[in-house]
Amino acid sequence: MSSTPQFQRTIEDFVCEHCGARVAGTGYTNHCPKCLWSKHVDVNPGDRAASCHGLMAPVGVDTKGGIYTILHQCVECRHEKRNKAADGDDFDMILQLSDNPH
Ligand SMILES: [Zn+2]
Ligand SMILES: [Zn+2]
Repeated sequence: MSSTPQFQRTIEDFVCEHCGARVAGTGYTNHCPKCLWSKHVDVNPGDRAASCHGLMAPVGVDTKGGIYTILHQCVECRHEKRNKAADGDDFDMILQLSDNPH
């Protein structure tokens, strides 16, 4: 018996509300690969249960063991959330964030 991850996979394309880029959904990322902004839509990853729907600004990056984790903060309610960087994210943006820790 293996445990079932809580992650609910939802594949959806979206248009970034920050920079206007069209983002092809993978079901695993909910942030824009170009500007790294996200949206406050999840309580648990993928569940789309949050009622806030504020834009979430990338405010920092953690690197541990070569894995980049983007720290997002909601501009509406200040909720903070960590999202693993995805393949295809703009690496220059990630490096800029890690140069300017908040
Ligand atoms: Zn964007
Ligand atoms: Zn929010």
